[in-house]
Amino acid sequence: MGFSSEGFLGGVDIGGTKLAVGVSDLHGRLLSVVREPTDRSRGPDAVMTALERMLRQALKEAESTAGVNQKGADLLKAIGIAVGGPLDPERTVVLRAPNLPGWDNYPVKAFFEERFGVPANMDNDANAAGLGEARVGAGKGFSHVAYFTVSTGIGGGIVVNGRVYRGATAAAGEFGHQIILPDGPQCLCGRRGCLEALASGTSIARRARESVPKDALLWRMAEGNPEKITAELTARAALAGDSFCQKLWEETGFYLGLGVANVINILNPNRVVLGGGVTNAGDLLFVPVRRTVAERGMRELVSACEVVPAQLGGNVGVIGAICLAQDLLAGDK
Ligand SMILES: [Zn+2]
Repeated sequence: MGFSSEGFLGGVDIGGTKLAVGVSDLHGRLLSVVREPTDRSRGPDAVMTALERMLRQALKEAESTAGVNQKGADLLKAIGIAVGGPLDPERTVVLRAPNLPGWDNYPVKAFFEERFGVPANMDNDANAAGLGEARVGAGKGFSHVAYFTVSTGIGGGIVVNGRVYRGATAAAGEFGHQIILPDGPQCLCGRRGCLEALASGTSIARRARESVPKDALLWRMAEGNPEKITAELTARAALAGDSFCQKLWEETGFYLGLGVANVINILNPNRVVLGGGVTNAGDLLFVPVRRTVAERGMRELVSACEVVPAQLGGNVGVIGAICLAQDLLAGDK
């Protein structure tokens, strides 16, 4: 494959547990990716220093992958940044970072612009991932894409004709905080009964711990220790025939399906893409989600939309961030 050598783009994905930094050519073709766990204990300065080092390393690796004689840092044209948590309307800082304590109002964008001398474009991780999936993943070729990321929490991204829809203050697409059960469980956002409090990985594990019968296969798989119950373990137990876990996933798919149906009714997308670790459960989740969407969504809108799994896997954050860098160069931020 011939790489374009007229310039490089940087993509930075800042997660609560993992950091990933990639470099691509101007067409978005990945040349290098560097990953590390997030050391949250030492605060934002240490993490930012690690990210700077990782981007310099990724630029070096990209030089050799692309076979260029120039320094990677000299070829860098723009940086895209994906980070968890709501941002300020200008998208320069993280307002509240539930998974990154001490990061509130940290000037993330300015840091990269100063250290690398190029412009940066930052967005929350769900918007960035949605943009990546819409442009080069499971939403490619579709004009109206709604993306759900279902992992520790639940995030959303809305991409219309290739552009992220951000709303009035850059906070649109909080699919995880639509209210599904008015008096339901407490959500991290401070409200009750949000989709995230019912169908995120954290919530699946919590619901399992609260009501697992002592004679269930799950209880034996967890060696009688509720601490060992994770969403992934409940999926394995369900696949091994545990009826308690099968019901748990049926219920999870029902809640998520209601959330997807609401989004379809409001936005009229032609693709809904579901990504994030919880979607690795496959049919266990997708079958009840699709059934609920068909039974509960408005017929005309549901028939115009397919609900599909994400395609970009573990690179979605980096690829989404690179798409943000591309948008910046195209004058669309
Ligand atoms: Zn909430």
